[in-house]
Amino acid sequence: MCSDFEAEGQFYSVQVGDSTFTVLKRYQQLRAIGSGAQGIVCSALDSVLGIPVAVKKLCRPFQNQTHAKRAYRELVLLKCVNHKNIIRLINVFTPQKSLEEFQDLYLVMELMDASLCQVIHMDLDHERMSYLLYQILCGIRHLHSAGIIHRDLKPSNIVVKSDCTLKILDFGLARTACTNFMMTPYVVTRYYRAPEVILGMKYKENVDLWSVGCIMAEMISHKILFPGKDYIDQWNKVIEVLGTPSLEFMNRLMETVRNYVMNKPQYPGVNFADLFPDWAFPSDSEHDKLKTGQARDLLSKMLVIDPESRISVEEALNHPYIHVWYDPAEADAPPPQISDKQLEEREHSIEQWKELIYEEVIDWEERNKNGLMKEDCSGTFAKHSFSFCHTSYTNLL
Ligand code: AMP
Repeated sequence: MCSDFEAEGQFYSVQVGDSTFTVLKRYQQLRAIGSGAQGIVCSALDSVLGIPVAVKKLCRPFQNQTHAKRAYRELVLLKCVNHKNIIRLINVFTPQKSLEEFQDLYLVMELMDASLCQVIHMDLDHERMSYLLYQILCGIRHLHSAGIIHRDLKPSNIVVKSDCTLKILDFGLARTACTNFMMTPYVVTRYYRAPEVILGMKYKENVDLWSVGCIMAEMISHKILFPGKDYIDQWNKVIEVLGTPSLEFMNRLMETVRNYVMNKPQYPGVNFADLFPDWAFPSDSEHDKLKTGQARDLLSKMLVIDPESRISVEEALNHPYIHVWYDPAEADAPPPQISDKQLEEREHSIEQWKELIYEEVIDWEERNKNGLMKEDCSGTFAKHSFSFCHTSYTNLL
């Protein structure tokens, strides 16, 4: 796959921790900024465009079903989705020159300043907190409009800039996720997964509102709301805090799960005002007090065990705490065009996965050559003028 504009000699190798990055020469000054289940992410300077970028290396993405399904899905969806609250793919390449040699996949994305994990430790005022939540909601609403229900939103998969703009990094669990098998020592964070996911129930779009609720709770109290060692421990924490769910909810569980859940001690649940007391929120003015009441009200509507009683994304976007930011261009952006074939999830052999992923790389190059790439969304500037306090921000990084 040695196209004319990516001829041999256009790559160079650089050591990043334990990993070797072999990247196009246009990407300079690589520095590790994060790592996830799929590999290492570096910041770099795109010397052609003169802009900072993030370069993610996926090592042998076809090595097993879990990696392959995730890498393929991520690549296909990143190519289609164009929304200011979803990370934008800028380039895709592999340094190998043929399908036979294909090993590593590199994704080049717009560079953000930090993940939400760092922001969660900061004391956010209502303006910043509600704006961050608004953007998460716009991003997931956009994914929902394309038939993608995330189910695995968490702070490490959400990135922000110091101007308070926010983007979701990934597309969550595949519909047919093979989540138990992983060949990396990477520990999967499950603290933000909804009861439907923990208990293996049917789910709908508002499964993602639970995760937003957990994230919001953490922004307020600076600690993980339901830090379970495993799903059983996590469920115990959920019912201790929110109370035993209704019989009507339990009746919708699979029999084996129902027996387990029904045999737990009964918990009344903790009052939301005790869980998130006034002192945990900013309280400089009467306006802050009003906002605190609204914030707590929104939390109490997202952190509801039964999805039938939990708030929907649309309702959350219209909630007084969030609605102040409402812009139809962001909240009701036209859905991305994703065909059923692109969303189709099947098992393939390693060789088939290798070919499927490689074909997507070639397709990117072909489309790039022919100028068919999706519109440059460089219009995604922060329209709101505040930013995180830069000193506290850099101190956190
Ligand atoms: P991932 O492998 O996509 O889960 O990313 C792992 C970590 O790398 C994230 O938690 C972020 O801290 C960081 N990261 C990934 N992509 C970006 C990006 N585009 N901008 C800034 N940081 C990123």
